[in-house]
Amino acid sequence: MPDLSFCSPLKNRTAMAKLPIIIAPDPRLKITATPVDRVDSSVRKFMDDLLDTMYAAPGIGLAAPQVGVAKRILVIDLAQKDSPVAPLQIVNPKLIWASEELESHEEGCLSLPDQYADIKRSKSARIRYLDQQNIDRELEATGMLSACLQHEMDHLDGRLFVDHLSRLKRNMILRKLSKLDHSDGNAGHRKMSTF
Ligand SMILES: [Zn+2]
Repeated sequence: MPDLSFCSPLKNRTAMAKLPIIIAPDPRLKITATPVDRVDSSVRKFMDDLLDTMYAAPGIGLAAPQVGVAKRILVIDLAQKDSPVAPLQIVNPKLIWASEELESHEEGCLSLPDQYADIKRSKSARIRYLDQQNIDRELEATGMLSACLQHEMDHLDGRLFVDHLSRLKRNMILRKLSKLDHSDGNAGHRKMSTF
């Protein structure tokens, strides 16, 4: 059977669109996403929608599984408020190097609204990926961009930032989330560390 799960909902759409973000705990956040064969116009359209969804949330990173698309695609924009947008659109990222030196950043996630924790990750990382023109690229990131990249790449393998915490802390956060009512859309209160 052909894999239509990626393309079919996206056909025949021209305007950018906001996609619904999946909130944890949800099994769709725990799957391993599959690589994209080729970055074509439907993938580019989807990445525009991902960016649109991320900016509206607001957040600084978003991965395809967070909108229910099990493909290895993510977008990031660390530009500060009042700065021009500087989106990164990343397909099939592969970690090719990560520093032994770790650094801690406060992380949040659009799939775990209003939950934050300090997470230790490699201070620097280098990845290979396909850009929006299907061109092979490398990127070396450090500091916040490195943390954000590793957080988003985790999503492609079904890992959330809470999976880096102790089971006790993780369960506390997930329990809080399952009790929250997400219908009031209090997005404006989110901090800029929400990826
Ligand atoms: Zn996230």
